[in-house]
Amino acid sequence: MKVYNFIAGAMRPALSGRWLDNIEPATGQVYGQLPDSDARDVEEAYRAAKKAFPLWSGLSAEDRYAYLMRIAERIEARAKELAEAESRDNGKPLWLARSVDIPRASKNFRFFATSALHFGSESYEMRKPHAINYVLRKPLGVVGCISPWNLPLYLFTWKVAPALAAGNTVVAKPSELTPVTAYLLGEICSEVGLPEGVLNIVQGLGPKAGAAIVAHPDIAALSFTGGTKTGAEIARVAAPMFKKISLELGGKNPNIIFADAPYEPMLSTTLRSSFANQGQICLCGSRIFIQRSLYDRFKEDFIRKIEEEWKVGPPLEEDTKVGALISESHMQKVLRYIELAKSEGGTVLTGGHRVHLPPPWDKGYYVAPTVIEGLPNNCRTNQEEIFGPVVSLMPFETEEEVLAMANAVPYGLSATVWTRDLSRAHRIADRLEAGVVWINTWLLRDLRTPFGGVKASGVGREGGFEALRFFTEPRTVCIRYDV
Ligand code: NDP
Repeated sequence: MKVYNFIAGAMRPALSGRWLDNIEPATGQVYGQLPDSDARDVEEAYRAAKKAFPLWSGLSAEDRYAYLMRIAERIEARAKELAEAESRDNGKPLWLARSVDIPRASKNFRFFATSALHFGSESYEMRKPHAINYVLRKPLGVVGCISPWNLPLYLFTWKVAPALAAGNTVVAKPSELTPVTAYLLGEICSEVGLPEGVLNIVQGLGPKAGAAIVAHPDIAALSFTGGTKTGAEIARVAAPMFKKISLELGGKNPNIIFADAPYEPMLSTTLRSSFANQGQICLCGSRIFIQRSLYDRFKEDFIRKIEEEWKVGPPLEEDTKVGALISESHMQKVLRYIELAKSEGGTVLTGGHRVHLPPPWDKGYYVAPTVIEGLPNNCRTNQEEIFGPVVSLMPFETEEEVLAMANAVPYGLSATVWTRDLSRAHRIADRLEAGVVWINTWLLRDLRTPFGGVKASGVGREGGFEALRFFTEPRTVCIRYDV
């Protein structure tokens, strides 16, 4: 299967004529190709977007709303095909792509379509002298969106939809590891008659096509989700150009379980927050802190449930809970971290190895859900993002002790706390260094809320009006009316 760039409303190969292989993680086999785009393709995309900007930014909010809603409807109409494509491209279980990724992609378009209708701005009245200040929210022009492979269409649309809703035109790049659903989104844009050049999708390598978007002198803003190292590189290039940047980066999130936790919901949610999407969600709780009096009971139940219920298998099988990791190199990285954990003194309680399924999946990138205990919070295993199905168990006694450990990482994306003590929940939420704190739940998202991290987890917030503020420039107009 070949995918193409979507530039100025047309499907095109890279100008260089070069192609990259696309590998199916479930089998480890090449199953398609994508354009190996470079700065020239990005320039074409930029020109198309620049040409489209006056028309798109000049539309009424109702007209933009109508286009974005039509895209949402077409995503729903093609949901089965999109879910199959996502599962094949990424290795995630098909049921997960069908129930989470693709519905969320259409929801992103619906949500930001309606937000275009509701977005407003402030005004401030002054007396002596009499004046009124009002704020215009102008679209920025051509903006860049760069997204990762773990939730491909979900995160791609989470950026593209608000950028378009706010009146910008877009040059966007999905991960080279998961190009297909973004390509299909290009088809959908054609089907709904989105004016050409409004959304341009450039496929290819991060350090080549992605870096060209970042370095383009006239791309006004960059919305990026990906690794912290890449985020730092983007900031290094973009900051001296005074581009607006929003960086959603890695995490090493604490999952704090007090002895008074609501036990069954805590256990089932902790299984998900540990291993959903093969542990490849930036919000996964990879450091699990358990109050000492509950530690043994939790450990026993957790391991038993993993071994009974968290079946590693081919993505197409409905009872597969853990599919394939994204790539050979990522799987090797995860396995190296498991070895590191052992060398740091950790004990593997379950998993800890690659899983070899029968043909045709025998070369696929499967790793068993892995639980490690006996490591201090300050070792590398507990400090660095692994981004795979690997969690570490650590006991604690007091609230102070666990807060200190939870915060003692370079990251600060999200945190989960399990307790029935309301005062404690508020106290901890107040002191955790994280952009999102979940109490007695995980991954429950109201799309109106600000989303993002602190410290090495990023800069800026997405979600709701935060995203529309990011994708617009405020202009204050002051009118004196007593002259
Ligand atoms: P990467 O940082 O490797 O890549 C993210 C995107 O950036 C990809 O499209 C990639 O392209 C591109 N890219 C890579 N290098 C450059 C560059 N020099 N200039 C411009 N673009 C570049 O991250 P992963 O794809 O490996 O994603 C996993 C990471 O994403 C994890 O750290 C995870 O925590 C984080 N993440 C954060 C989320 C959040 O909301 N905070 C949500 C989801 C994931 P290509 O893949 O083609 O190389």
